[in-house]
Amino acid sequence: MRRYSAFAIAREAFRQHKGWSEAWSSPEPRDHYDVVIVGAGGHGLATAYYLGKRFGITNVAVIEKGWLGGGNTGRNTTIIRSNYLQDPSAALYEKSRALFETLSQELNYNIMFSPRGVMMLAQTEHEKRGYLRTERANALQAVQTRFISPSEVRRLVPIINIHGPRYPVLGALWQERGGTARHDAVAWGFARACSAMGMHVIEQCAVTGVESANGAVTAVNTTKGRIGCTKLGIVVAGHSGALADMAGFRLPVESVALQALVSEPIKPCMDVVVMANTVHGYMSQSDKGEMVIGGGADQFNNYTQRGSWHHIEETVRALVETFPMISRLKMLRQWGGIVDMTGDRSPIISKTPLGNCFINCGWGTGGFKATPGSGWAMAELVARGEPGPLAEAFSMTRFREGRFIDESVAAGVAH
Ligand SMILES: Cc1cc2nc3c(=O)[nH]c(=O)nc-3n(C[C@H](O)[C@H](O)[C@H](O)COP(=O)(O)OP(=O)(O)OC[C@H]3O[C@@H](n4cnc5c(N)ncnc54)[C@H](O)[C@@H]3O)c2cc1C
Repeated sequence: MRRYSAFAIAREAFRQHKGWSEAWSSPEPRDHYDVVIVGAGGHGLATAYYLGKRFGITNVAVIEKGWLGGGNTGRNTTIIRSNYLQDPSAALYEKSRALFETLSQELNYNIMFSPRGVMMLAQTEHEKRGYLRTERANALQAVQTRFISPSEVRRLVPIINIHGPRYPVLGALWQERGGTARHDAVAWGFARACSAMGMHVIEQCAVTGVESANGAVTAVNTTKGRIGCTKLGIVVAGHSGALADMAGFRLPVESVALQALVSEPIKPCMDVVVMANTVHGYMSQSDKGEMVIGGGADQFNNYTQRGSWHHIEETVRALVETFPMISRLKMLRQWGGIVDMTGDRSPIISKTPLGNCFINCGWGTGGFKATPGSGWAMAELVARGEPGPLAEAFSMTRFREGRFIDESVAAGVAH
């Protein structure tokens, strides 16, 4: 694989850009792989990448029914933060945030990580108390956050109206090293690195069945034929229930559509990410100038992967109170993705009833920020057959055992 560099760009500029090679190859599947990962979203690709990088396992196929990154990875609002409440979550999300800091260099692919800062507004006394509690928990977890005053909020975000008629801003939980990254680039960077290690990333290939014998998976049936495997990783987000069904077990997850929208591009006006969970909306400005706006999840289970008018109306109405200037913006696009929600709003990185089958799901509305950390922890689980320290609390058996990791405040509605 040719390295990307300033020198390479200059050289190609003189050769009319004819010397670039494919970022990743598109091979036909082999009959058998050591590891098959279902789902070429960020998490599946990151799992494959760390299997190769950390454990030297490269006879790996990542199988994707559409195009890579075309699921939630390419549909999210790209917020990265690690200010969760519970210790296992803070450890996992902070590991991920830290990996994001150097991911562009590691992958030799510009993922445009922008640690511009993320603030979560406190707009009720109850919310303020909650964030003060999180600030203290984060201090114990070595996650750097601090609660800032309304005037500091105003200084960081001049376009905000801190004297909202219903919900004035009482302060905010501020994570200075939180931010955003280019979501597609994260998938593309991992795919390129996997391909360079000799792994197969197989697009337009849906898994339609899982074969097993004596309590272990032997192969997956796909639209490109039967593919045998020694180990199977299921990393399909909103379709986890469907894959688990094929493998013969049930998961405590529900699939719902989550929506987002972007405005027309405007001049730079906000260089941090703002989340307003009480009014239920969040916003950042992309490098192109669009205001990227996230809203809520549907209140009913579905697999529709599309937006709807009532969510746009609700979200924009809520945000206009805090950001009056957006009332004059034209909205360009809206979309939806299918997210998989667990009851405690924490993910599952777990062994399954099938001995050589592992599952990574339940990231709900907030898994983009976890992409590298999730892949790191899942690779460890797949390679060793046992969870490492980052994943051990996230077993699917916790729901039966009552060991919930309650992140309903940190992750329930927003990201
Ligand atoms: C509108 C929206 C906004 C969001 N905003 C944020 C945010 O700001 N910050 C944040 O941290 N998170 C956010 N999220 C959540 C985040 O996008 C997801 O948690 C994360 O991207 C999940 O990644 P993944 O790789 O597990 O899933 P995906 O990217 O969905 O990948 C799963 C892949 O599996 C494939 N697949 C499914 N079934 C099969 C099959 N049978 N055979 C083969 N392949 C299959 C799918 O096609 C898909 O490509 C948001 C989500 C949405 C929808």
